[in-house]
Amino acid sequence: MSDSSTSIRVFKYRLYPSKAQETNLYRVLNCARNLYNMALAERKYGYQLEGRTVKVADLEQLAKHYRAAFPYAEQMFSQTAQSVVKQVDLAFQAFFRRVRTGQKAGYPRFKSRNRFHSFAFKQYGNGVRIDGRRLKLFGIGRVPVRWHRPIAGIIKTVRILHSAGRWFAVFSCEVPHAPPMPKTGRTVGIDLGLSTLITTSDGEKVEHPHYYRAGQKRLRVLQRRLARTQRGSANRRKKLLAVQRQHAHVANQRADFLHKLSTALVRHYDRIALEELRVRNMVRNSHLSKSILDSGWSMFRQFLTYKAESAGRVTAFVDPAYTSKTCSNCGTLFQDFDLSTRWVECDCGLSLDRDHNAALNILSKTGWDASVNGNAAPLPPSQDEPQAHTSFRSPRL
Ligand SMILES: [Zn+2]
Repeated sequence: MSDSSTSIRVFKYRLYPSKAQETNLYRVLNCARNLYNMALAERKYGYQLEGRTVKVADLEQLAKHYRAAFPYAEQMFSQTAQSVVKQVDLAFQAFFRRVRTGQKAGYPRFKSRNRFHSFAFKQYGNGVRIDGRRLKLFGIGRVPVRWHRPIAGIIKTVRILHSAGRWFAVFSCEVPHAPPMPKTGRTVGIDLGLSTLITTSDGEKVEHPHYYRAGQKRLRVLQRRLARTQRGSANRRKKLLAVQRQHAHVANQRADFLHKLSTALVRHYDRIALEELRVRNMVRNSHLSKSILDSGWSMFRQFLTYKAESAGRVTAFVDPAYTSKTCSNCGTLFQDFDLSTRWVECDCGLSLDRDHNAALNILSKTGWDASVNGNAAPLPPSQDEPQAHTSFRSPRL
């Protein structure tokens, strides 16, 4: 489907359905959820009670019968129904894969209203298409959209998402790679930290955005308000929505910040080295976990990787072992080193910020030829490029 000259990018837009359209959206979402639970039950009890294996083709038959038999179910597009049973099949495949690899398995679960938030149109042009400024959806209508940025490439699929009381359309598009960025001759190692978000091998630091803490504080207030409400009351629904909105707000701010940061790095450096991340091990340490998840490390790495790839930049992920406790100058292991050590000193004369030292080690672990590293003596900037900065421009905190 997609080759090396294209990549898949996702565009998300807010929908503004009318009252009647929203009723339709809820109906389709409910139909999709009912079908999901029915297909799951068929798989589960078919095997448990009768020992029979229910195939995907059987589930597709079920989807067909469901659409024909249940009230409003024909409002759900046929391909949407197919994608729902496919989703059930994928949930089982993932479950068996986890069993095989000895991970904590977790049997596929039935979905309540609170656990089912979206449905898909798997082929743009079939049941879904852009019609003027609106999005025309099968069984729902021509829904107004806020196109806050232009969509690009060839639209492949559309997913309709309900989140924190709002509706969104998520487009997956196949876009051609942009032409590679002009070379800067610069190379960098990046240390991802708990107290500081990133420290580069050039000694630059980017702190955690302070607004995230502020957002957390607000969230705690809203959560206390929610806890005081009566179960099942209208007031509780209202307070829950406020909590969900605040979550979404914090997540948006974080993604926005990490987008800007990763773009700035990719613009400034030809080659970027990071540690391999072991989130799964680290989040077990509950003391460290909050900051790690806060800072969205994996999101940052994901943004950086895809942006680097489409800009023709090189990334490397190195083994993080000993990057903090080794001297970047002579390779000696520091004694009495622990998390509270903020500054490292070595007999060889090195005296450096701990994270800066780690970033230098990460860079040297790549084995990249340091002689082409233009950090000290940047290559002459090309004619059409503005004068390159020695420090990359960090987004405003
Ligand atoms: Zn040393």
